[in-house]
Amino acid sequence: MNTFDLIVIGGGSGGLAAAQRAAEYGAKVALIESHRLGGTCVNVGCVPKKVMWYAADLAEGMREASGYGFALSAHEHDWRQLKGKRDAYIERLNGIYANNLAKRGVTLLRGRAAFADRRTVTVDSARLSAPHIIIATGGRAVVPPIPSAGLGITSDGFFELEQRPQRVAVVGSGYIAVELAGIFAALGSSTALVLRTATALKQFDAMLGESMLKILAEEGVTIHTHAVPAALEGAAGNMTLATDDGRRLGPFDCVLWAVGRASAVAGLNLSEAGVSCDADGFIQTDKYQLTSTAGIYAIGDVTGRAQLTPVAIAAGRRLSDRLFGAQADRHLDYHNIPTVVFGHPPIGTVGLTEQQARENYGDHNVTVFKSSFVPMYYAMTEHKPRCDMKLVTVGPEKRVAGVHVIGPGADEMMQGFAVAVRMGATKADFDDTVAIHPTSAEELVTMR
Ligand SMILES: Cc1cc2nc3c(=O)[nH]c(=O)nc-3n(C[C@H](O)[C@H](O)[C@H](O)COP(=O)(O)OP(=O)(O)OC[C@H]3O[C@@H](n4cnc5c(N)ncnc54)[C@H](O)[C@@H]3O)c2cc1C
Repeated sequence: MNTFDLIVIGGGSGGLAAAQRAAEYGAKVALIESHRLGGTCVNVGCVPKKVMWYAADLAEGMREASGYGFALSAHEHDWRQLKGKRDAYIERLNGIYANNLAKRGVTLLRGRAAFADRRTVTVDSARLSAPHIIIATGGRAVVPPIPSAGLGITSDGFFELEQRPQRVAVVGSGYIAVELAGIFAALGSSTALVLRTATALKQFDAMLGESMLKILAEEGVTIHTHAVPAALEGAAGNMTLATDDGRRLGPFDCVLWAVGRASAVAGLNLSEAGVSCDADGFIQTDKYQLTSTAGIYAIGDVTGRAQLTPVAIAAGRRLSDRLFGAQADRHLDYHNIPTVVFGHPPIGTVGLTEQQARENYGDHNVTVFKSSFVPMYYAMTEHKPRCDMKLVTVGPEKRVAGVHVIGPGADEMMQGFAVAVRMGATKADFDDTVAIHPTSAEELVTMR
């Protein structure tokens, strides 16, 4: 039996962060990874997605370039070439993660981990034990339980595509669906976005989903609303999506399911460790990331809370600070987590939605400021998408409780505003801040 101070199951964003921070404090750490180091974010999430987003952004820029006096001839995009370069970049990152673990003296075990009991984990024939065990196994894409759903792909399959499919349906309404539909459309695929209801991005302020659907439709994406998938018909490369109200959408070369993510806990034998999950299968924790069993913690997507890389990292680091860095109350505050949807255009958002603010504080305590304008960049172009912004303020002092932006630059805009929101800035603080001109961001400090 190998004994450690800490065992971390999962070498993704959260697991790597927790393991490395604990090792920096001198803890003897083992990290177990069944697949590629870096987890979802690096291999099939944020990183390759952002590469594709940049490609889509360039494609849009080239389309707009004539407005600025460029006479560009049409350039065919080489998806296969980009995929090769993207894969090589990610392989380099995988190697960097392995080196970082080695540098800090973390023992890396390759294989699938499972609990033998509350203190013991097995990896193939090896048995390891530790007083502290962190579960950081992440999530997996859900495929709907309908006939022939397997003909479609998920976001994992998106990153395996060797060439761009010409006719694509993206099924789903969350941020992954919106992002991938935007990428396909910008790079030239005939793209449909298939929604169960009439709205997208339901977890965000309603303005954002409404604007996003409008802009996607203007960009040529076909939006199918109230379309609940009943079956996929045909064969891979030529499919029709049947809906439960009798519609048959398609034909499509590719159908991509982006209908949600479940926790990756299969095969972990959580019951052997007494670790319980909520009704949706996510591991329940308290604010210190502690599960129902003393000494066993869960961080990141497997907990179902704010499923974002920086959240998993922050939770992991703070947990190790607490366990090995003598910071007794260190934990992650899950409020005011900023996030970006890398759509076309991007969305940046932090804090309460208008609806949440009204529910929490009452209508009379909520004041909302909005702005909608065509960014100056589009003054020279034919195509004139709008940028929409909203500040949600609460109380007589008008504390800014939410900032929501959809438009070019929203992605880079939001980090700084998140600091202001976290510090409790009021509308007067925003107004007292001198604008940066000419930018879109200046609208956030000049709203009336
Ligand atoms: C398409 C897509 C785009 C995304 N874009 C963004 C973005 O732009 N920004 C952002 O912040 N977040 C984004 N995310 C979310 C982000 O990837 C996750 O929030 C983040 O990776 C969660 O980290 P984690 O450590 O909880 O899990 P993961 O990164 O999923 O890591 C879990 C690891 O555990 C391993 N594992 C699982 N079970 C076992 C086992 N039994 N034994 C050993 N190892 C095991 C897995 O192989 C995996 O490597 C995106 C996700 C997707 C799918």
